[in-house]
Amino acid sequence: MTVLENLLSDIFEELADAEHPDVAPTDVPREPLPGYTGRLGAPRPAFYYPDAYTVDIAPGDQPGYFAPPKAARFDGGAFFAAGGHVYALTRAPGGDWQAAAVSGGLGAPQLGRTQADAIRAVWDLTESHFDVNAPFVEFRDARGLYGLPEKRAVVTCQGHTISLKRRHKVGHSPWVVPCGKCGGTGTLEHYRHVKGGVCFGCDGDGISMSYTLEDAVALVRTEARKERTDANKRALAAERERRRWLRFTQAHGQVARWIDFASSRGHQKAAKWRAAVLKGRELTADQVQAARDALGLERDEAEVAAYAEVERRAAVKRSRPAGVKGERVSVSGVVTVLRSYETGPHYRRRVGWRVVVQAPDGLSVIAFTTPAKVKGLAEGDAVTVVGTVKDPENRVIATGELQTVLRLESLSTAV
Ligand SMILES: [Zn+2]
Repeated sequence: MTVLENLLSDIFEELADAEHPDVAPTDVPREPLPGYTGRLGAPRPAFYYPDAYTVDIAPGDQPGYFAPPKAARFDGGAFFAAGGHVYALTRAPGGDWQAAAVSGGLGAPQLGRTQADAIRAVWDLTESHFDVNAPFVEFRDARGLYGLPEKRAVVTCQGHTISLKRRHKVGHSPWVVPCGKCGGTGTLEHYRHVKGGVCFGCDGDGISMSYTLEDAVALVRTEARKERTDANKRALAAERERRRWLRFTQAHGQVARWIDFASSRGHQKAAKWRAAVLKGRELTADQVQAARDALGLERDEAEVAAYAEVERRAAVKRSRPAGVKGERVSVSGVVTVLRSYETGPHYRRRVGWRVVVQAPDGLSVIAFTTPAKVKGLAEGDAVTVVGTVKDPENRVIATGELQTVLRLESLSTAV
């Protein structure tokens, strides 16, 4: 070999090294990491490392299984959350316990001999006892500041992510999260007049946090674990508040709806009352009276109209048909409308009467009848009407509430 050939071969080797600066992939151990066992007992790699960086799980980072929760007691019942959904525990017909989803969650109720058994059934079926997936580390070759090559790693675990940049500095953690304020440059151009533009987020380091890859992986996994528990806590807290507000609305109707409405509009006292109810406190009689007064004292016309709309919607929601078409029904309530009208052709005019009866639970019926049937009746009278349903889908035009049309059979004054 000539001197020239030797030289050329050296150069080629150097070039090849420059293209693959790290250890060749074949030299990198690729066995699954120790200490992790998949859900079926088979070993499964904790994460993959397609690049030359190996990651070890710290001995303390053994994956934990989530134990089923204890039932939380509120609103006269027992509840728990799994997979971010709330389940209610009730006695099943056979004397066992059953756990049924309040909203979302499993479609069928799960049975158990005890409450704990029913909880465990849901817990297992929703796979809540499994640990979160092992974090996945993806390596990328990128260009950094001034176009220099840069190693990056993205650690992901169930929606939780941390983006890292490789740092080559002896004696420092090898992976960093760039400072969010300066983007990793360490300077802020537009603050050049203050301390020469040194970033006040990172003091010029360009780094907000630094980790070993193991620490970053453990951190992301801890966040994912915590989020799963927190999602259940949040769901349970929301259900508790929903029930408290429902009870309050059942007790105070209009006042409750007004407090809800006004607090959403920035009424400070209303917001305070609402928060108190959600925390489970009873409003004093004075506070309820104050809310009632505030409701009456509302002077802003736009607010009055907006609140009337809230009331209207509540009424529409409450309204329901008296029965299916052709069904014979009996409705007890108060006569709210009693009006006569003229009908028939001009040569044979006759008088009819329109009667609206409103039951206390959002049921309203309307009937058209003869003068004889409404004789001696007045608006405000308590009556019981019996008739067959003619149109269950009729709505009051002005408000949109359901008002069943009845073919009247009898109308009797309640004793
Ligand atoms: Zn910075």
